[in-house]
Amino acid sequence: MNKKTLKDYDYSGKKVLVRCDFNVPMDENLNITDDIRITSSLPTINYLIENGAKVILMSHLGRPKGEANPKYSLLPVAKRLSELLKKDVLFAVDSMVVSDKVKEMINTLKDGDVALLENTRYRKEEEKNGEEFAKDLASLGDLYVNDAFGTSHRAHASNVGISNILPSAVGFLVEKEIEVMVNALEDPKRPLIAIIGGAKVSDKIGVIENLLNIVDTLLVGGGMAYTFLKAKNYGVGQSILEQDKVDLAKDLMHMAVAQDVSLVLPKDVVVAKEFKNDTEFKTVDIDKIPDDWMGLDIGEETIKDFNDIIADAKTIIWNGPMGVFEMDNFSKGTFAIAKALAESTGVTIIGGGDSAAAVEKAGLAHKITHISTGGGASLELLEGKELPGIEAISNR
Ligand code: AMP
Repeated sequence: MNKKTLKDYDYSGKKVLVRCDFNVPMDENLNITDDIRITSSLPTINYLIENGAKVILMSHLGRPKGEANPKYSLLPVAKRLSELLKKDVLFAVDSMVVSDKVKEMINTLKDGDVALLENTRYRKEEEKNGEEFAKDLASLGDLYVNDAFGTSHRAHASNVGISNILPSAVGFLVEKEIEVMVNALEDPKRPLIAIIGGAKVSDKIGVIENLLNIVDTLLVGGGMAYTFLKAKNYGVGQSILEQDKVDLAKDLMHMAVAQDVSLVLPKDVVVAKEFKNDTEFKTVDIDKIPDDWMGLDIGEETIKDFNDIIADAKTIIWNGPMGVFEMDNFSKGTFAIAKALAESTGVTIIGGGDSAAAVEKAGLAHKITHISTGGGASLELLEGKELPGIEAISNR
């Protein structure tokens, strides 16, 4: 990696601003329902504490749309963080995020102390990468660390703006994300396969195009498979279909042939009468989808097919569920893929979102090489794009 990493600086006595992704889910009483994003940031925070830094944490939470709103305060995160670190976390309550009062507070920090600023999206300039806000944030510290992979595909004041002012590095979390993903895409152990699913092909055109230049095999499942099946002249009944993307699906299939990539579609699917769990359903071969039924999962034969290909692969990238996995009756395909990845001896990478939720629900997360913490950011990496939040970090 050509970017500075955490270990490239000496932190003793330095005020270090760290952009984290503490955008955690909360219930209506503002209790944190999943703290994985907080626990994932601990290695970087602890490293800085142990190396004598004064640690100043920043994050956004939800969408307060540029205004202070107690519903989106980071106070519950400060409390949770304090429990996890087993030390006080100074919470800088301020509707402007940075003010003279906050500066005074930061100036009381001793080496190894930790403070958390209020939600960066309380300021309108945050999402516009406004210079004033970037300067305000930068005025609090000597160095900047980006440990928020999930927002690295956005150019905001608290990641890109501030990197343009202070010397900077990526934190351990971002370093791992980039190393694993970039390695898999640029220098993978082969066969390299990708499994792509989810609702629509239109959301992942860039990803598929880029992957076709890199992978040996591309498995397509989920709702998007029906647009490809239609492009091969199969009747798809009432299944989700993007009619205006059928020609594109044809082009992608031609591209696969030209690149010598095997693009594998479902050979059987689970069809249902209605889009709900409690409805009549059955498995049919792909050329026998009844006109008034809809495909909501991949079938047994397809699972076997996909499993065999996964078992032979040395690197596997998965993004998107194989069916409507939120409904029990149509979750079998997605969980089967989760299990196949867990059993693989190759490098397994899950690109966040629903596929990550599925492996976690199945209790298999610990058997996966890397589960990305940022769905949007990892999709952009899979598209072959540079992430502005990483690009802006000081070069080695
Ligand atoms: P995405 O955000 O693009 O990864 O899509 C995830 C969504 O795709 C999930 O909510 C799934 O329920 C949905 N999905 C997967 N397969 C199908 C299908 N066959 N028909 C309709 N929706 C599907």
